[in-house]
Amino acid sequence: MERRKFIRNIGLGAAATLISKKAVSNELNNLKRIKMENLQKPEFPSLPYPYDGLEPYMDAQTVEIHYDRHHRGYYNNFIKAIEGTPYENMPIEKIFTEVSKAGNAIRNNGGGFYNHVLWWYSLGKGSSKPSAGLSEAINKAFGSFDKFREALGTAAKTQFGSGWGWLYMTPDKNLAVGSTSNQDNPLMDISPIKGIPLLPFDVWEHAYYLKYQNKRADFIDNLWNIINWDEINKRYQQALA
Ligand code: MN
Repeated sequence: MERRKFIRNIGLGAAATLISKKAVSNELNNLKRIKMENLQKPEFPSLPYPYDGLEPYMDAQTVEIHYDRHHRGYYNNFIKAIEGTPYENMPIEKIFTEVSKAGNAIRNNGGGFYNHVLWWYSLGKGSSKPSAGLSEAINKAFGSFDKFREALGTAAKTQFGSGWGWLYMTPDKNLAVGSTSNQDNPLMDISPIKGIPLLPFDVWEHAYYLKYQNKRADFIDNLWNIINWDEINKRYQQALA
């Protein structure tokens, strides 16, 4: 465990003031470098905003419990599950390509860890917009942004039970939407949809129940207010390459 680095939490209110300015600056630089390829290292990443940073669309208590308990739990259990196995030093995206052989502990907790990293970094409040390239691909695949929004919303709203809605890039470099059960994702060999995840919608009840109770559709409709398109644009560019 000691050779694994743990990224310290920042931006979490009072805790951040205990870190020196230089350390904060280094941490911010680390945050900027978090990209898909960095997820190969099994690190538990910082939350890129304070717990209340997504209010009023996502309440602080939900973010805290979801990040600090659910997400951290998946991470800890994933690390336990790979320890002493051939998967210990394998990039997580590679593990997903043969996850059917790796067993349910690695499938569920590896997926839970990875999907939530994508999730937190997909969100934020700001004025970001889909890039020209991504907009063009969305129009090509769905006809318009509104139709894309409806298609992803429907995929997420109609996922039966716990799971995720996804915008993803197919192997032939087109955009598509779909959903997966539990903590599966489109990188997994067992997934009914295959490709590179671009925008995840977490539709587990733990993502919304405190604020929205049974109203999953309202939660999903509100997510459009807090998409960090700068991040999705980057993922789109990386997936194209
Ligand atoms: Mn979740």
